[in-house]
Amino acid sequence: MEHFVYTGNPGRVIFGSGTISRLAEEADRLGARRLLVLSTPEQESQAQDIAAHLGTRVAGMYSKATMHTPTNVTADAMRQVEALRADGLVAIGGGSTTGLGKAIAYRTDLAQIVVPTTYAGSEATPILGETEGGRKVTRSDPRILPEIIVYDVDLTLSLPVSMSVTSGMNAVAHAVEALYAREANPIISMMALEGINAIVRALPGISQNPGDRMSRSDALYGAWLCGICLGSVGMALHHKLCHTLGGMFNLPHAAMHTVVLPHAIAYNASAAPAAMDMLGGKLGAADPAQALFDLSRRLGATMSLQELGMPQGSVGAAVEQAMSNAYWNPRTLEKEGLTNLLERAFRGDEPRAK
Ligand code: NAD
Repeated sequence: MEHFVYTGNPGRVIFGSGTISRLAEEADRLGARRLLVLSTPEQESQAQDIAAHLGTRVAGMYSKATMHTPTNVTADAMRQVEALRADGLVAIGGGSTTGLGKAIAYRTDLAQIVVPTTYAGSEATPILGETEGGRKVTRSDPRILPEIIVYDVDLTLSLPVSMSVTSGMNAVAHAVEALYAREANPIISMMALEGINAIVRALPGISQNPGDRMSRSDALYGAWLCGICLGSVGMALHHKLCHTLGGMFNLPHAAMHTVVLPHAIAYNASAAPAAMDMLGGKLGAADPAQALFDLSRRLGATMSLQELGMPQGSVGAAVEQAMSNAYWNPRTLEKEGLTNLLERAFRGDEPRAK
């Protein structure tokens, strides 16, 4: 008989096309009258257009969201929150913008509406990773979990193919680690497999035709499911490595996940046979690590950390930081094995279990 613990996170999800027209109604549901709208500099004008749906409920905009949630940007945004006496947050964008909203919510407990435009999945988790002094620190807290997610497939049509592929793989990574997490349970595994299936099915379609709404819808649906997985069970080696590399070298988040994932799976495969069976079954492959590597490469993703900007000669320091304060992992973290893993990922080699 199976024993497990399942914790479901609360949250309201609006999914579809044209759903941003419901933003005002959703803000009213939260009782918010003075919203601060967040975005990256690149999405400032898109955020302004979307914010028009909120009318006079918008108190101001803050458009300096930055990857890996640096604490100095959060401090700057907090001054805006206080000056405007904001009573709610609307984050429009990918994981970077969602991250800023979560960082503010963690400090203020303001309610959040997230309008995701990538497949990062952060909007469905109570997890916040913040960077300070070259170190990314992750925490989980109910205040961090967004209250409302408005998924509008139309907003993802502009996401470039390269970012769509890597962002999709970022989501797949959440689901893969959920399959072998210490807190793994049948409900989350079911969502993980459904999420992986939706994304793996969608990415080739998006790659061929970025305007393919059906594929875009599948990918966004998959991203939500994968985000739920990440938010419900613990993370393991793959996420630890990515947090380490992101904090130390400021590597592009989704692209880095895409490179590391096949290697992390290969490292863990022998210690997580049931997860590998489920994953292999979904991918139709005996070797899931190789299958995901092949898919990403076929869709044009960069497969080497060196090409993403990881400095030469830095593998040793990264392994040391990843092994300090490590997350639980199905296989013991061995210095030699991890060094081998990161050296292969650095060069862009195919994954190998060592
Ligand atoms: P991102 O949010 O940094 O977006 C990358 C770039 O793409 C930005 O310039 C953004 O403005 C642009 N962009 C986003 N959507 C677009 C669209 N539809 N069209 C055109 N351009 C668009 O990238 P990301 O990978 O979504 O997020 C990465 C961040 O998310 C990292 O800081 C990571 O730590 C965090 N994250 C957190 C969690 C969590 O649960 N805490 C989960 C996943 C990712």
